[in-house]
Amino acid sequence: MTRAGRVPVADATAPARCDAAQRALAVAAARELGVPRDYGRTRALRLQREPRALTPIGTDVHGRVQWLEPRAARAFLRMHASALDDGVVLDVVSAFRSASYQLGILQRKRERGESIEQILAVSAAPGYSEHHSGRALDLTTPGYPALEEAFEHSPAFAWLMREAGRFRFHLSYARDNRHGIAYEPWHWCWRSR
Ligand SMILES: [Zn+2]
Repeated sequence: MTRAGRVPVADATAPARCDAAQRALAVAAARELGVPRDYGRTRALRLQREPRALTPIGTDVHGRVQWLEPRAARAFLRMHASALDDGVVLDVVSAFRSASYQLGILQRKRERGESIEQILAVSAAPGYSEHHSGRALDLTTPGYPALEEAFEHSPAFAWLMREAGRFRFHLSYARDNRHGIAYEPWHWCWRSR
């Protein structure tokens, strides 16, 4: 059972964040792995600054503590509680990820033999993922496999489409989005205004 939304034990340690210099290193290493030099411009994606602080939002479907920047965390916990009131469970798959963590994902996929084009169709290049900002998270709900398009048929997705805007969460990657990123009904990002 998930405990998403419940504040976890106080001794959980926030994950490491990349400063601008560390992010530049991750971006450079990703270029070595084949990320095009003009990636940000052609995908209309910006380099993401990592937050100064992170707040735990509960555990994910694998039992790991997940984190968001404080304002997004508060908004998510309110949204999670509101969904529960309506009988909808929003489980977290992944929230904050640093640029160097994203680089690790890219490296592992390359080692498994995936082409850079295949990888960049589903993952943002290190430095450019909204997950770096601490404002984005991937959601699922019981009975649906995580990170699959079928999530769009879940009551949780219908609830999010109707209610998430009240909490300033928005779907980032709609079908045929201008970033060339696959449709991600599970990926929601908080905006400050
Ligand atoms: Zn995501």
